[in-house]
Amino acid sequence: MTRAPQDADARRAACPVICYPTDTLPAPPLERLARLRAGAGEVARHVIAPREARAFTVPAGHFFRIACPEGAQVGDLNLFAADDLSERFFSGKTRALHGSHVTTGARLWSCLPFLRPMATITADSLDWYGVDADGGRVHDVIGTRCDPYTHHLLSGQEYHHCCHSNLARALAAHLERAPQEVEHHVHDVLNVFMCTGFTRDTGQYFMKASPARAGDHLELFAEIDLLGVLSACPGGDCGAEHSSDAARCHPLEVTVLRPQDGTAEGWQSPAPNGYSRRHGAV
Ligand SMILES: [Zn+2]
Repeated sequence: MTRAPQDADARRAACPVICYPTDTLPAPPLERLARLRAGAGEVARHVIAPREARAFTVPAGHFFRIACPEGAQVGDLNLFAADDLSERFFSGKTRALHGSHVTTGARLWSCLPFLRPMATITADSLDWYGVDADGGRVHDVIGTRCDPYTHHLLSGQEYHHCCHSNLARALAAHLERAPQEVEHHVHDVLNVFMCTGFTRDTGQYFMKASPARAGDHLELFAEIDLLGVLSACPGGDCGAEHSSDAARCHPLEVTVLRPQDGTAEGWQSPAPNGYSRRHGAV
């Protein structure tokens, strides 16, 4: 190991600076959205069976609620612009803007060059959890999704119900294509209900049993027309392992809700990012 320089402690003592201060971002109108939600009625309900995934659509200006109807279950969520699969959820930039875990008031941002809010979190029944003694928090944007390639790399075994495969199968069924033709659209997820963090000593990604119970939910407001795909992770509450049939799993439920008068008066979908895209080229 390289020997530490004499001023190592001084170098380590530099002050952290927030990479992306968010005070210039317009705050979501949560009170207005709460009023809109109060009058909203259910228009569709989708049940996601354990170790499976399902695609669903949510019109802009509607809400969708992801719930654990029967017990703790982690969900891996992908989001696309309904009319353009190239605009999809950008987990990494969402993390850079809002932190490693998201709750009410955070937005789920789309990838470059679009970089606009796809959805705003309007309610989170697990917001009381905060941060635990291990540094664990709920609903992360740090995990990628359990996938059969990493599983094969680490174990040499085949497993076909990882979230990546579930999402690929569900997207393929929605698009009437083969999973192999669409799996490149599957992207890093929002891990709904998952409790995760990084170990203090080695900085490794850890998971622990989700604190969710039957009835827990996360609600989001669709800022643009959305195609969502949600997988009920084979890890169940992710308290022991994933990528196997060993864990006890429960279904997930997605409910789409339409505001009473369509949507908020004067509300508009956010436009794609305003950067010129010239990139300094002459
Ligand atoms: Zn998973």
